[in-house]
Amino acid sequence: MTPNLLRDRLADRIQQVETRLRAACQRAGRARGEVTLVAVTKTVPVEVAALALELGVLDLGENRPQELWSKAAALPPSVRWHAIGHLQRNKIERTLPLAHLIHSVDSLRLLSALDAESAGREKPLDVLLEVNASQEASKHGFAPAEVPLLGSPLRSLRHVRVRGLMTMAAPEEDPECCRPTFAALRRLRDQLRDAVGPPHDWSHLSMGMSGDFEVAVEEGSTFVRLGTVLFEGLA
Ligand SMILES: *Cc1c(COP(=O)(O)O)cnc(C)c1O
Repeated sequence: MTPNLLRDRLADRIQQVETRLRAACQRAGRARGEVTLVAVTKTVPVEVAALALELGVLDLGENRPQELWSKAAALPPSVRWHAIGHLQRNKIERTLPLAHLIHSVDSLRLLSALDAESAGREKPLDVLLEVNASQEASKHGFAPAEVPLLGSPLRSLRHVRVRGLMTMAAPEEDPECCRPTFAALRRLRDQLRDAVGPPHDWSHLSMGMSGDFEVAVEEGSTFVRLGTVLFEGLA
C-alpha cells in the first residue's frame, strides 16, 4: 500500500468510527466530548501510529510497556499515551514518565508500588483500576466483590489519584451481551464515588473495544479503546 493510500484508508476508518461514536452518544443523550477515542496501536508499526496522530487522534494506547517505550521515543511528545495492559512492577520506572493515564492497575501491590514511585512527581499519577467484571479466569483485574473493600487502601495513597475503573468485556457475537458487564462496572464506580472521596474522583470508565464500543458508550464509557476497527488490514 502506498503511503497516500494508507493515509486515506485510515482517515476513512477514523471517520466511520467518529460517525458511530456520535450516534451512540446521541442515543444516550451524551455529548461526543465526554468520550475519548484511544487508538490502540499494538498491532501496527510506528509509522501507522504516526499517521493516526497526523489525522488528529492524539490518544494512543499500548498494552505492552516495551512497545509503549519504543513508540513514545519515535513519536512527538504531543501524544497522550495510555498504558492499557498488565504492568509488571519492574516496568513502572520507565513507563510512568511517558504515560498520560494507566488504565490497568490490577492489584494493591501494584498500586502501592506506583504510589512509592510517584513520590517525587509534581502532579499526582492518574490511574484507573482494572476490574475483571466478566470474571474470566484468564483476565487480570480486581474481582467485582473486592472493589467495595478498596476504600481504606485507597485513602492511604499519597501520590496516586484514581480517576475511575476499566474493564474488558468477554468477546461476544452480539455486543448487547456485553451490556450487563458495562452496567455493572458503572454501578461499582458509583458505589466507590460515594464511599471514597478526594483526591480520587471516579469520573472515568474505560470500557468498549472494537466489537462492543457503542454499547459501552450507551452505558457511560468515557474512554473507548479501539484497535481492530481502526487498523485491521492496514499494516
Ligand atoms: C487490544 C486491546 C484493545 C483493542 O481491542 P480491539 O478489539 O482490537 O479494538 C483494547 N483494550 C485492551 C486492554 C487491549 O489489549
